Amino acid sequence: MTTTMSLPQVRELRTEIPGPLSRELQQRRTAAVAAGVSSVLPVFVTEAAGGVLRDVDGNSLIDLGSGIAVTNVGNAAPEVVEPVRRQAGEFTHTCFMVTPYENYLQVCEELAQLTPGDHDKRSALFNSGAEAVENAVKIARRATGRQAVVVFDHAYHGRTNLTMALTAKSKPYKHGFGPFAPEVYRVPMSYPARDQRSGAESAREAVDRIEKQLGADTVAAVMIEPLQGEGGFIEPAPGFLPAISKWCTDNGVLFVADEIQTGFCRTGAWFACDHENVVPDLITTAKGIAGGLPLAAVTGRAELMDALPPGSLGGTYGGNPLACAAALGSIRAMREQDLAAAARGIQDAVMPRLRSVAEYTDRILDVRGRGAMIGVEFVKAGGDEPDPELTSRIAKTCHEKGVVVLTCGTYGNVIRLLPPLVIGHDLLDEGLRVLEEAIVEHTR
Ligand SMILES: *Cc1c(COP(=O)(O)O)cnc(C)c1O
Repeated sequence: MTTTMSLPQVRELRTEIPGPLSRELQQRRTAAVAAGVSSVLPVFVTEAAGGVLRDVDGNSLIDLGSGIAVTNVGNAAPEVVEPVRRQAGEFTHTCFMVTPYENYLQVCEELAQLTPGDHDKRSALFNSGAEAVENAVKIARRATGRQAVVVFDHAYHGRTNLTMALTAKSKPYKHGFGPFAPEVYRVPMSYPARDQRSGAESAREAVDRIEKQLGADTVAAVMIEPLQGEGGFIEPAPGFLPAISKWCTDNGVLFVADEIQTGFCRTGAWFACDHENVVPDLITTAKGIAGGLPLAAVTGRAELMDALPPGSLGGTYGGNPLACAAALGSIRAMREQDLAAAARGIQDAVMPRLRSVAEYTDRILDVRGRGAMIGVEFVKAGGDEPDPELTSRIAKTCHEKGVVVLTCGTYGNVIRLLPPLVIGHDLLDEGLRVLEEAIVEHTR
């Protein structure tokens, strides 16, 4: 890597995980923080850089989660930190809707250039992924004059009211939180490891549902994660996305790609839609865009985005100048260090190793994903029944050994790897070795 990292890029355990100081903070936390906000691994972080997190007990952990696909350029990347520091000394906020500033424009210009398609584009900036998704729905409805929004099985689009309705999984995201927003319809997702069907066949089924149950002319938008995140790192069979996208175009329905998790080099291209040359009408981005500062965007065809009247989009903090400075630094790092290629390198390092582990056990149904977004799906012996208990035992062993891995999936039976794209190969190797050993320990 061209950048120097302030923390040694090594795993080093000084106490058990979590250590005594983290456990003390955990007690204070229970008394002050709502129980509904949980943590995967309750070590309290004091410092982070590149692919390492250091905690209050002095332990250094390998980060294979990037704070859920956010620190793609590495934690506290100098390319992000320096411009943010500078911006903070100049001004921290004016509200773009009151008096604008240039770095908001620069982020929108970058988005127009980087997102799929060479048509005329406009963007609007927000604070969180859920907020971007909500605004994409507003834009789609207003621009088409239609109301229905189609989403997929296993989809995850956020935790606000409208995005809960778009999200598939009930517990913990939706259960008890209704009533949900109306005019949201769910259709089957292509899931090659379980349905063994081609992308074209699965697309035909989804389209048939939409046409028979809704009628194409009521549908404002079809929204899809091109490679599903929280739902289990499910990558649709080749041809699925292009077929859905084509049907949308033929029927005046907007194809909305939710690239909040997959975007910004994560899958080995700037955006996951690029792998099949799919050009969405609207695209939502967040997570990896700004190296850890809260920023999100909707980018879309100029005529759709400009169909909404002044004042109908926005928010007090949307496109905050510190977040925009961070995004510009992060995009620059991705470009200069070719982090899309780095993500492909991570895929080349990780896939063969996990696939060879899978050969020794019938408890792994599938190893899948693209770039630095790779999932391992675990099942019970002798079949394909999901095994969330095994999955969490393996994750827990990794955590105790100082490797941060995350789980996901409608059935909670997928371990997902989302390392920072700048992770050194020694560190990645070591993290993988810990994961491999944990898999072997719990499946033999
Ligand atoms: C994380 C995520 C969201 C929600 O983003 P927040 O910033 O947590 O609101 C929406 N869609 C996808 C695909 C995501 O991964």
